[in-house]
Amino acid sequence: MYFLIASVAAAISASITTVTVWGLIPYSLLGYRAIDIGVMIEAVLLALALADQFRISQHEKIQAVTLAMIDPLTGVNNRRAFFELVEPLWNTGVRHKHDMSVILLDVDKFKSINDTYGHALGDDALINVSRALKEDARAGDVLARWGGDEFILFLPETTYIDALYVAERIRSNISAHHFDLKEKTISFSASLGVSHTDQSISSLDGLITAADRYLYMAKEQGRNRVCWDLLSHKAINAVVNLHGETA
Ligand code: GH3
Ligand code: MG
Repeated sequence: MYFLIASVAAAISASITTVTVWGLIPYSLLGYRAIDIGVMIEAVLLALALADQFRISQHEKIQAVTLAMIDPLTGVNNRRAFFELVEPLWNTGVRHKHDMSVILLDVDKFKSINDTYGHALGDDALINVSRALKEDARAGDVLARWGGDEFILFLPETTYIDALYVAERIRSNISAHHFDLKEKTISFSASLGVSHTDQSISSLDGLITAADRYLYMAKEQGRNRVCWDLLSHKAINAVVNLHGETA
């Protein structure tokens, strides 16, 4: 539109000046100078067009960056965003020797939910799990879809005990919930692995790998449970606090 108006303004002003110079209309200074005015209008409009184009491309760039960070199904961070958000938190945590924890969650028997009720309902189940996780996560925690039916939660400045409480709350909320999905009410559970920097872990990858190991243990032990490092002194204390008994 800017280009169109600029071209029309330039053409009209050039014509006015031309017919004035040729003497086809009575001479006036405005008629003689019309082309100058037209060129000025054209320049302003082209500058506006450029600014608009720049604004649009910036907006598209921001949109593309955001889309590249978000899991399209659940709207939570994807794996790439997880690392971008967590790496600075990890580095600060290491520098200040802060407690940090990771919770890895995998829905139990999710394939059978897909097989029994269909993929669309399975999708809905994943959306609901991500919502439940968002509700249980605290401000500052970083939630992401790790892939498939797996979600990850990074908890900065969080002791092993507190991370175990969060994990147990997530597990019990999911297993107690009746999900109303596509006119069906279904129940399912999830298994969780929890790791903590206390376990002489020196890298973020190491922390995630440990959580994955405990998640595997939770599956092996029958699912719908939270597993952690039983050898960790802090984790043992956490058990004492969770169940009110000595380990
Ligand atoms: P387990 O208790 O051992 O975890 O059993 P499972 O059946 O949940 O096994 P697993 O976690 O390996 O299966 C994940 C399944 O999730 C496999 C795949 O078909 C399904 N899946 C992955 N992504 C999606 C998705 O975006 N939507 C739906 N509906 N299903 C998905
Ligand atoms: Mg699963």
